[in-house]
Amino acid sequence: MALLSPAPTSHLAQKTAYHPRIVIVGGGFGGLYTALYLQKYRHLKGASITLIEPRERFLFTPLLYEVLTEELLLWEVAPAYHSLLAGTNIKWQQDWAEHIDLERQRITLRQGDRFNYDYLVVATGAKTRQLPIPGINKHALTFRSLDDVVTVKARLDQLSQASYPVAVTVIGAGASGVELAAKVADRLGRNAQVRLVDRGAQILSPFPQGLRHQAMTALRQRNVELHLQTHINQVGPDTVHLNNVELPSHLTLWATGTEPVPWSGTPVNTNDYGQVLVRPTLQLEDYFNVFVVGDVAAQQKTVPNTAQAAYQGAAAVASSLAKMTRQKQPKRFSYLHLGDMLALGKGTGGVWSFGISLGGKLGGIIRRAVYIHRLPTNHHRFKVARRALGQIGRALWPFKQQ
Ligand SMILES: Cc1cc2nc3c(=O)[nH]c(=O)nc-3n(C[C@H](O)[C@H](O)[C@H](O)COP(=O)(O)OP(=O)(O)OC[C@H]3O[C@@H](n4cnc5c(N)ncnc54)[C@H](O)[C@@H]3O)c2cc1C
Repeated sequence: MALLSPAPTSHLAQKTAYHPRIVIVGGGFGGLYTALYLQKYRHLKGASITLIEPRERFLFTPLLYEVLTEELLLWEVAPAYHSLLAGTNIKWQQDWAEHIDLERQRITLRQGDRFNYDYLVVATGAKTRQLPIPGINKHALTFRSLDDVVTVKARLDQLSQASYPVAVTVIGAGASGVELAAKVADRLGRNAQVRLVDRGAQILSPFPQGLRHQAMTALRQRNVELHLQTHINQVGPDTVHLNNVELPSHLTLWATGTEPVPWSGTPVNTNDYGQVLVRPTLQLEDYFNVFVVGDVAAQQKTVPNTAQAAYQGAAAVASSLAKMTRQKQPKRFSYLHLGDMLALGKGTGGVWSFGISLGGKLGGIIRRAVYIHRLPTNHHRFKVARRALGQIGRALWPFKQQ
């Protein structure tokens, strides 16, 4: 195997066109953004780029909570691949990759199709980790996929009509749990008691103090009950058992524990968590034409499993692919932590960046603007921004419509 690239050198010598076959498995932040970043490189215009992704729609996870409070619509946070990829040279293959054969440089899909590649990018992400809590799979709802969002929203719509006091339990006081608790409290209002449960001693443990403080304030303002250092023993249809005490819970949300989607094919080395070991360039250890990016990659300790890290990794991988197809060295991926942002209720948020922290409505506006800027493709970004500006305009217009 060539050290840098499988590109035939003869085409360079003869100046004939070279059309590398680039296959990308997984169309999330790592995979979709790699494919889109590749569009920037003119010499790759003739490349064959195939994106293998089974879902119909890309999911912009940081903005999913806004769907629960109807601040954003489904099409805004989950644009369809066919519209995102229109006008590009990216071919979307809607299927699961079942087997990666690193020796033959070939991917086999669930429906039986096969794709040979010169370069491969694997970005299959993470999934919910099973927890050994009786009843959790049956009675608690997760919040990761588009189906989850639709199911949770429908349940909240039902509960908002309830004639009895509603109890909601959110399991896990990490970013997702805190954001869910605050949004659910705003969605259901005074008729609901939201509780946030974690076995740890504090919420948002890896986050900066300023942001944690804003989150605590937002939860307190919404009367969210905090149950820290608390064990969940069982989840029932309308109950939870916390430290062996049964409490009512008409909706139990499970926002904790992920694990990487397992690698399937030629065996590769992984860390204890199951993430694939990669070089600092995100290349696979023994296969230099294979990159692994996003949550499924075991990167340096300072790189978190976040969308922010995945799309920065995607830019680095696209740049390395552009270099390698010109017989140049790939670049080391160096992650720059730009900050942290949280949705802390309807219209409000917390932002922390380079030591500065902002909260409340201003934090909410900045967070939304940053994420709209991060949406894939200019066309989609423009459509979402136009609707957001319309909403702001209507809110500021002094004459209320009758
Ligand atoms: C509710 C929620 C909120 C979040 N909020 C934030 C946030 O505010 N900020 C932040 O930075 N991060 C956030 N994250 C984390 C962020 O979503 C992930 O870190 C990020 O999506 C990782 O990108 P990825 O490309 O590795 O995986 P993903 O974006 O999950 O993409 C993986 C893709 O691979 C596909 N796939 C899986 N297996 C196969 C296969 N065998 N064949 C083909 N395709 C396959 C999947 O369908 C999926 O589309 C949030 C996550 C969730 C669930």
